[in-house]
Amino acid sequence: MNLHEYQSKNLFARFGIPTPRGKVVTSPQEAYDVAKEIGGPVVVKAQVLTGGRGKAGGVKLARTPDEARSHADAILGMNIKGLIVHKALVDPASDIKQEIYLSVTNDRAARKPLMMASAAGGMDIEQVNRESPEKIIREHIDPFLMLRDYQARNLASSIRLPREHWKAFADIARNLFRCFEECDATLAEINPLVITGSGTLMALDGKMTIDDNALFRRPDLAEMRDLQAEPGEETRAREAGLSYVKLDGDIGCMVNGAGLAMTTMDITSDIAAKLGIEGSGPANFLDIGGGASAEKVAAAMRIILSEPKVKAVLLNIFGGITRCDEVARGILQALDEVKTNVPLVVRLVGTNAAEGRQIIDGANIPNMQSAATLVDAAEKAVLAAKEATK
Ligand code: GDP
Ligand code: MN
Repeated sequence: MNLHEYQSKNLFARFGIPTPRGKVVTSPQEAYDVAKEIGGPVVVKAQVLTGGRGKAGGVKLARTPDEARSHADAILGMNIKGLIVHKALVDPASDIKQEIYLSVTNDRAARKPLMMASAAGGMDIEQVNRESPEKIIREHIDPFLMLRDYQARNLASSIRLPREHWKAFADIARNLFRCFEECDATLAEINPLVITGSGTLMALDGKMTIDDNALFRRPDLAEMRDLQAEPGEETRAREAGLSYVKLDGDIGCMVNGAGLAMTTMDITSDIAAKLGIEGSGPANFLDIGGGASAEKVAAAMRIILSEPKVKAVLLNIFGGITRCDEVARGILQALDEVKTNVPLVVRLVGTNAAEGRQIIDGANIPNMQSAATLVDAAEKAVLAAKEATK
């Protein structure tokens, strides 16, 4: 579960990390009132669950309450990467001397949390990592020893932080790690951590991702979920008990089992690349799970087809506990409710595959074809999507 900037910064503050103490607003008039109360320049910031808000025009400086109102008017309702802005944060503006990057994530390969720091703050860290990875300094953290002082000093010196800020930096780094641990986060990121004109360090932007599997024991964090802000498909998938992640491609994938879903995605993008079809590939990760019922398959189908970018759907079902005849009925039930012309490619193998295919063939659906192997299925789906985009 991703948290908003304001929620992340509230958690940071709870762990002793300095942040601007602003307020969340939902109307331009409220932005005016908060700016007046703050009584100086403010920054109005879109609260959406995506990065790069600055570049999209979702972060604006205002010198007066009137300006704050008009910025809020522009920002509320704005569409940033497909997400509508319903809330804005009005923070006292900071006088920035330097921007730093600081985060904690899990390094699965090392089986340890990893703290990363960079002097290239305020920028898209994925881009820094691609173009100049040496600018990111890394320290693995032993969860039993927590962040050690020498590690914080090493990060500070490696990013060439002036020595007078080392103490404040080490405090923030230690507290960020505590925050990460105690919130069961998979990401706690400050970008930028700024040095202000008066020489203090402050977390200006915050992003936290909480491990969904830990929410049962963090009821206070679970309550922070903002249903209005998260992509509708993800909410519906969670409610149907499906594991779903939206991606950029044009081929909807409905698969049972996480490993098979990943394989299906890999082969689909591989085949799209081999055929030289730019922009084609998986539109989602979706695991309908073992023993998926017809209802679950129908829910999955509705979610996949609700995405207008989807030009073909690839159904790859390996029957084990999941019975192919049950899945076949689910597909037909879904198509009964959601009429679609989107080409469908179905591959059924395993338990009751023959019955499943019989059910599908018997239904005589003109936009559906079957495939024998995964490669065959992926090829048919990629070509069908290309045909449909013509
Ligand atoms: P993001 O684009 O979604 O990462 O949003 P950020 O909160 O990181 O803001 C983007 C950029 O806006 C920051 O890197 C800063 O350069 C700038 N910014 C944000 N808040 C302030 C502020 O209070 N004062 C000034 N001068 N710039 C700010
Ligand atoms: Mn940022």
